Amino acid sequence: MCRDAFAPISGVMTALHPDAAAPFVLDSHIDIPWPDRGDAWRDTPARQVDLPKLAQGSVSAACLAAYIPQGLRDADGHRAAWARVQAMLSTIRDIAVRPADAPQIAVSVCDSTNAIAAARAQGAIAIILAVENGYAIGEAPERVAVLRTYGVRYMTLTHNGHNALADAAIARADLGDAATLHRGLSVLGRETILQMNRHGVLVDVSHASRDTMVQAVETSAVPIVASHSCARALCDHPRNLDDGQLDMLRESGGLIQITAMPSFLRKGGGGTLVDFVRHVAYVADRIGINHVGISSDFDGGGGIDGWRNAQETPRVLEALRAHGFDDTELAAICGGNFLDRLKRAEEHAGQA
Ligand SMILES: [Zn+2]
Repeated sequence: MCRDAFAPISGVMTALHPDAAAPFVLDSHIDIPWPDRGDAWRDTPARQVDLPKLAQGSVSAACLAAYIPQGLRDADGHRAAWARVQAMLSTIRDIAVRPADAPQIAVSVCDSTNAIAAARAQGAIAIILAVENGYAIGEAPERVAVLRTYGVRYMTLTHNGHNALADAAIARADLGDAATLHRGLSVLGRETILQMNRHGVLVDVSHASRDTMVQAVETSAVPIVASHSCARALCDHPRNLDDGQLDMLRESGGLIQITAMPSFLRKGGGGTLVDFVRHVAYVADRIGINHVGISSDFDGGGGIDGWRNAQETPRVLEALRAHGFDDTELAAICGGNFLDRLKRAEEHAGQA
């Protein structure tokens, strides 16, 4: 498939960066504690991300994921996954309801880039909904439309373990997985991507196998994203994207959000903020500044020396600045690029 060379949509960035001193900062992958403990408004050491920490860390927008653990690919498993994802998405939406004794923090659950821009203008933290694991929808691609009514803006095709839609990067032998189940996407997986395109939900290939990712690039009419992955050339881990995959992102307009997972950043673990910046710079050098962003995977295993919780997010910007990225590049990396892909998904879906 042949596509035009990638060029950013004009206007998206300028709408969100009126003040270069306070860049728009978006963390594209955060988990939530589950079962919910009702502590999102409390600054508690039990969470790496809560609303006070987002506010203290000047985080403009946070993608909160409803994570569905992979289970058996049977009717009971699919029924449980569908119930859980809806319960989690409802809980994430309810985050905007401030408890009576909570601090005054402006929060807005945002279903669109217009809503994110409005939140930004009001100084409110934008909460963006995501689903981690296409297992959530079982064998029913039409459920993507329901997820969109909850405000979902991206879904990873898989988690660890193959599901009915696609093969994962990491098979689950404990669930009976062989190395491959579908050799990439299944027929249902392809139909799901079409539904995601139709409804303005970005296709997320983090956790997907290489074949799944390649086929998703070919299938999706909207650029794909990897919401939390790193560069395999710097750290040989199956969750990371190799140089060929990075080049595919460049050619298709895709995006990789480097993530603060120690074992993805440095072989054997122990990755730090220095390694994080090295991965960002590597991707920027290889495929361009418009194809890379940042994510924490906080409350889902992420967290590195230098960026341990949302409150420390300004240190990421400092480190990127110290590396030599200028304000325009920083704005693209720290949120502009992800916003651009959300906008593209909306335009394709006729929602913009
Ligand atoms: Zn993940």
